[in-house]
Amino acid sequence: MSRFWSALVRDLSPYVPGEQPRIAGLIKLNTNESPLGPSPRALEAIRAEAADSLRLYPDPLATALRETLAAYHGVRPDQVFVGNGSDEVLAHAFAALLKQDLPLLFPDITYSFYPVYCRLFGIAHETVPLDADMRIRIADYDRPAGAIILANPNAPTGVPLSRGEIAALLERHPDQPVVVDEAYVDFGGETAIPLIGSHPNLLVVQTMSKSRALAGLRVGYAIGDAGLIEALDRVKDSFNSYPLGRPAQAGAIASVEDEAYFQASRTAVMASRGRLDSGLKGLGFEVLPSAANFVFARHPRHSGADLAAGLRERAVLVRRFSGPRIADYLRITVGLDEQVDRLLAALGDILQGGTR
Ligand SMILES: *Cc1c(COP(=O)(O)O)cnc(C)c1O
Repeated sequence: MSRFWSALVRDLSPYVPGEQPRIAGLIKLNTNESPLGPSPRALEAIRAEAADSLRLYPDPLATALRETLAAYHGVRPDQVFVGNGSDEVLAHAFAALLKQDLPLLFPDITYSFYPVYCRLFGIAHETVPLDADMRIRIADYDRPAGAIILANPNAPTGVPLSRGEIAALLERHPDQPVVVDEAYVDFGGETAIPLIGSHPNLLVVQTMSKSRALAGLRVGYAIGDAGLIEALDRVKDSFNSYPLGRPAQAGAIASVEDEAYFQASRTAVMASRGRLDSGLKGLGFEVLPSAANFVFARHPRHSGADLAAGLRERAVLVRRFSGPRIADYLRITVGLDEQVDRLLAALGDILQGGTR
């Protein structure tokens, strides 16, 4: 706090990202990073950009990357927007599309960045409770709304909606912008991208941070009607014309072009998720059905705080949230089999009252 702060800054309540500690031997299952590295072809492309050309600004339109993504997703380049991580893309969507006269709707349990953006941009919002099974119910959004944002699969629950359910939501709200944040869709969800042609109010946001193992490169994107993309461009060019550097643009293109590596790594993560899911259930955990690279689980006889603290003592880091209904859940990123086994062993030890 300093007397030089603006009123805006005084009123913010910033998002708190998962920790990035430097502890040797730590099993880090708290930020949904990929346990596998990025495509070797992406790394090669990034290295090739470490050249004299870095003295020049990158393409402000990221034309080649947008063309690559458009071809990959079967849309036109003017239906693609790219940004410095999908958090930035989402921020632009909040400013460009989600601030309307009526309140923005989103689930009570979802990505905790959404209320942060509402605060930053002065957007009135209402939260809609998940049902008793921690699912989003589309019918619950039948109320006055200026716009809607959902994460699908939802975070931190991992529970997905089908494309049919997203289509039903769009049919019920043809006059409101609807943003679907698909950060985890590649781990078993159904993308809403095929719906953009028939729904000019739909913006789908994806990221290269999770399924493409490029969290450190910061590349996210949105796909939607050209009119929505133009709105994002107007905000971007009022903020930062060059959100993606040359290495990021080149690395992202090479990652998309390496389809075999992408398929192999997301399949491996989904297989490890099965192992994590059954291991946790074997220890007596209730595990929500996940279509993401993490699971959300609680134990009927142990508090989330105690479990997370016990894991930390055993050098295993997971994420926990303190809100109502979710304080006893742990959000556990899917690791490699060896990391999953270390986590399960540590939990087994904690449940047996072991101390260290
Ligand atoms: C990780 C995540 C993002 C943002 O990821 P970026 O690294 O900024 O692309 C967006 N939405 C959800 C739900 C996420 O979990």
